[in-house]
Amino acid sequence: MTDQRVAVLQEPERITVETRPVPSPGPGEVQVAVRAVSVCGSDVHYYDHGRIGGFVMHGPLVLGHETSGVVSALGEGVDGPVVGTRVAVEPQRNCGRCEQCVRGRYHLCPFIEFFATPPIDGSFAEYVTVPATRAHPVPDALSDDAAAMIEPLAVAVHAAGKADIGPGTRVLVTGGGPVGLLCLQVARARGAAHVTLSDPVARRRDVAREFGADTVVDPGAGDDVPPADVVLECSGVQAAVDAAIAATAPAATVVLVGTGAQVTLPLDLLQAREITVKGTFRYAHVYPAAIALAASGAVRLDDMVTSHHDLDGAVDALLAARRDPESIKAVVRPA
Ligand SMILES: [Zn+2]
Ligand SMILES: [Zn+2]
Repeated sequence: MTDQRVAVLQEPERITVETRPVPSPGPGEVQVAVRAVSVCGSDVHYYDHGRIGGFVMHGPLVLGHETSGVVSALGEGVDGPVVGTRVAVEPQRNCGRCEQCVRGRYHLCPFIEFFATPPIDGSFAEYVTVPATRAHPVPDALSDDAAAMIEPLAVAVHAAGKADIGPGTRVLVTGGGPVGLLCLQVARARGAAHVTLSDPVARRRDVAREFGADTVVDPGAGDDVPPADVVLECSGVQAAVDAAIAATAPAATVVLVGTGAQVTLPLDLLQAREITVKGTFRYAHVYPAAIALAASGAVRLDDMVTSHHDLDGAVDALLAARRDPESIKAVVRPA
């Protein structure tokens, strides 16, 4: 077990499977034998364009950051999780010393290293190493696929926390992609009174209903949008944002969860209604809560998985959503 197979994005639209050395866990780290990696829109974006905004590939990059596996070796000074433990991998390494880290906002560390964000390699590989504190044990109730999807669920849990969604909150989710569907489910789990999801694609609106949306709307069609105390913006699309802001109740909170697209906001409306806008970037401290939520059954992750691929099929996994309108989440199983 000295070599492993890794799917490498050599340049946009060209992935090859390479043999590379199995990484050894450093001090404080564990090695994880990867079981499942669910594909994220950001992986597809790097595959297409080699960049996302200011994050630019300057050399080969291993994609994949939504990862589960089994602990396969411990680095120096690590006594757990022990070898054989099934884990969800939180795919970030922070410095631990800067002001943001010291204040507990480790996801905002300026020295953060995040899987599949250039130049840090991701998990389309048989083995990865992570800090032991970022390998979160999962119960048997969670499948390997579900454990991988704890990562996007963590995004939704962090966003719902920023929005302070609780019993009685009226929520509008803009965008019915995987993160939108997870936000919808987390809002439900936190006791939201009414959850509306907006998406221009009829199929996605149908899926949103299956995952618990009370109301679905087409943002471009002038559909009536029920009033919302919280908007979880997962679309990055101007028309959806405009319709969402128009639907806000006074003193509502708008949380930006999407990919950071350049949309404009109507400051006059934000001011007149005392709307709070909050940015979110990934997450911190939420993996245990996300795991508990998924294990309780309050959030359905396996039902979102629509295809499985091996490492040689990484491109098929990346293009699944484009090729198949029914696709929600593709999963790569490297071993
Ligand atoms: Zn992701
Ligand atoms: Zn730091």
